[in-house]
Amino acid sequence: MRADCGNCFALCCVVPAFSASVDFAIDKNAGQACPNLQRDSRCGIHTRLRDKGFRGCTVYDCFGAGQQVSQVTFGGQDWRQAPRTAQQMFRVFPVMRDLHELLWYLTEALTLRPARPLHVELEAALRETERLTRYNPELLMELDVPAHRSEVNALLLRASELVRAEVRGKKKDRRGADLIGARLRDADLRGANLRGAYLIGADLAGADLRMADVIGADFRDADLRGADLTGTVFLIQSQLDAARGDAATKLPPALHHPERW
Ligand code: SF4
Repeated sequence: MRADCGNCFALCCVVPAFSASVDFAIDKNAGQACPNLQRDSRCGIHTRLRDKGFRGCTVYDCFGAGQQVSQVTFGGQDWRQAPRTAQQMFRVFPVMRDLHELLWYLTEALTLRPARPLHVELEAALRETERLTRYNPELLMELDVPAHRSEVNALLLRASELVRAEVRGKKKDRRGADLIGARLRDADLRGANLRGAYLIGADLAGADLRMADVIGADFRDADLRGADLTGTVFLIQSQLDAARGDAATKLPPALHHPERW
C-alpha cells in the first residue's frame, strides 16, 4: 500500500482537479495532465515542488492505488495509448484510492493489541476490501464506496475506542473540532479523539499525542516539533508531510521523518 510511481501512469498528476491556491500554483481540470508532467510519467519539477508552488503534490498519497489501477485493473495499458479506456481509468482511480486507504487503516487496526477482540471482524473487512480492489473497471465504477467506507469506519471507530480506553482518566473529545492555529504546546492529548479535527497551523510542539485517534485530521503547517506521536492511532505519512517537525518528534515505526524536517 505504498505508492510505486514507477509502475503508475502518473494518475495523481492527471485525474484530480487543481484550484490555484497555496497548495497548487495553477488551476487544472480533472482528467487533464499537469503541464509539468513529462512523457515518461515523471514530474519535471520533482525536486522543486514546494519552491514552484506545488506543495499539494508533496503531501499526496495514493496508498498504492496508482500501480494497482495501472498494472492490474488495466493490465499495464497506458492511458496515453488507450484513449478509449482513459476516461474509465480516470474514474476508477479515485475509487481504488479510497479502497487502498481503507486497507491501510484496517491493516493498522489489526496491529493494535487492545483491538484484538475485533480481529475477526477486521480480518473480514480487510479481505472484503481486497476483494473489491480486484473488480474489473465496470464493477469498480458502479461500486458504492461511501457505503463500504461507512461500514469500515464504524469498525475502525470501535478499534480506536478500545485503544483509547487504555488511557486512564477523562480524554479530550475534539472530533471534527476547529483547532486552526490552536495553542496546544505541551498539551496532554493522550487518548484524545481528534478524528477529522482541523489542526492547521496549530502549535502542538511538545504535545503528547500517544494513543490519540487522528484519522482524517488536517495537520497542514501544524508544529509537531518534539511532539510524541508513538502509538498515535491512524496517523498517516501524508499528515506528517504536511506538518512541521524535527528530529525530536517521536513517530510510530511504520512512518518516517519527512526529509525537510
Ligand atoms: S507538479 Fe509534478 S507531481 Fe505535481 S501534478 Fe504536476 S507533474 Fe505531478
